[in-house]
Amino acid sequence: MSEKDYDLFVIGAGSGGVRAARIAASFGARVAIAEDRYMGGTCVNVGCVPKKLYVYASEFGKAFEDAQGFGWDSSKPAFDWATLRDNKKTEISRLNAIYRKMLKGASADVIDGRARIVNANTVAVGEREYSAGKILIATGGWPHIPEFPGSELAITSNEVFDLEHFPERLVIVGGGYIAVEFAGIFNGLGSRVTQLYRGPLFLRGFDADIRAHAAREIAKTGVDLRFEVNVESITRGADGLELELTDGTRLTADAVLYATGRKPHLDGLGLEQVGVKLTEFGTIAVDEHFQTDEPGIFALGDVTGGMELTPVALAESMAFARRQFGEAGQQVDYDFIPTAVFCQPNIGTVGFTEEQARAKFGHIRLFKATFRPMKHTISGRDEHTFMKLIVDKASDRVVGLHMMGPDAGEIVQGMAIALRAGATKALFDTTIGIHPTAAEEFVTMREPWHED
Ligand code: FAD
Repeated sequence: MSEKDYDLFVIGAGSGGVRAARIAASFGARVAIAEDRYMGGTCVNVGCVPKKLYVYASEFGKAFEDAQGFGWDSSKPAFDWATLRDNKKTEISRLNAIYRKMLKGASADVIDGRARIVNANTVAVGEREYSAGKILIATGGWPHIPEFPGSELAITSNEVFDLEHFPERLVIVGGGYIAVEFAGIFNGLGSRVTQLYRGPLFLRGFDADIRAHAAREIAKTGVDLRFEVNVESITRGADGLELELTDGTRLTADAVLYATGRKPHLDGLGLEQVGVKLTEFGTIAVDEHFQTDEPGIFALGDVTGGMELTPVALAESMAFARRQFGEAGQQVDYDFIPTAVFCQPNIGTVGFTEEQARAKFGHIRLFKATFRPMKHTISGRDEHTFMKLIVDKASDRVVGLHMMGPDAGEIVQGMAIALRAGATKALFDTTIGIHPTAAEEFVTMREPWHED
């Protein structure tokens, strides 16, 4: 193809980079991929995977309590943080090895080290330079802690999985899905969790009813949720970390986790050597084919902003690799991307929020249901599931589907196909439910709760 060392040099072996390298190599491209930290990137090492393992861990305490109403012995088992943390490490090491093996199996060269762009066709890792026909930047994001007195005492999601000691008292700052998930995890594992958010209600961007329901349900689980408050300072005191808050109150904690946002990972990447431009948010600007302003340099995944989800990075890399090295296929369709928040219980959502739907379609119909899951009729737990359908009145199409309840992530994944296929409310109504499930409620919501 060319006299260059490689046809494609990928920077970053995370969700997007690994997939792009493998698919490009499968089309016969000569591919190198550089990674300076961990194979599999954020998702495998400090994101989706360890997070979900910890979510599982955090649900057992509740399950032991719930089991009592069903006749099981009431003695409460103890939780050991070191066992969870170390078993997690073993599993992640196994996955790291699998990723490396997959890349080797695909005939991509794995180069360990930090990559720096030298010019539009050259990447350096350490002392060595490699020439490449195309360069793909898939360096992801990095947690960001704003500066304030004592901010260096706070930790991020990168460190929280591997804390040496279990934080009996944990303060979590942030209102996005990552903050909410960690609040659920540590609350479930037995920490006294306080979650602080500077805005009036957390989970910005989600449907307003889901946000309000989540605040009620999460508060019931024991998380001390505080809105419209922020941290003024952190100091190290005799009894732990002392926090002074903007409302004048104080907190003492063993750890303070900041989950207030992520920034694109661009440090030392050498972008100043080439014509790659950034957006107003500091992410890499790309066109619909992931091409930057520098011909031959591409970028995808979290470093370009967007939805910042692993399946999105994967879809983008497939589209990129096919277009550049295979047969140009479909572009990524960003409509109706389902997503979940693995709090307790889960949130699952796909499509428009009520606010967005009204702005886009004008007149909508809303269907809502709130109920106690069957399991909790006997467990006695005070937990309620919430479901909502948003229907475009003119076309009868279901354009938004939101749920907070057990297994919402699993349920909404299936529903997402129906929404993408353009399913109407009439089609939902003629679909026969699976009884008894919570999901059947989505096909039995007959009476609109509201009609514009
Ligand atoms: P990354 O996976 O971040 O990979 C980038 C890689 O590039 C890293 O390995 C990094 O070390 C490497 N790198 C950076 N700079 C260089 C350089 N100069 N040279 C060499 N290597 C470099 N998404 C979901 O879909 N579901 C979830 O449940 C979910 N949970 C999450 C939970 C947490 C706590 C976090 C932080 C994220 C979560 N995400 C989740 C988001 C998901 O992890 C990211 O969207 C995804 O990893 C993005 O993939 P990427 O390829 O863009 O970047």
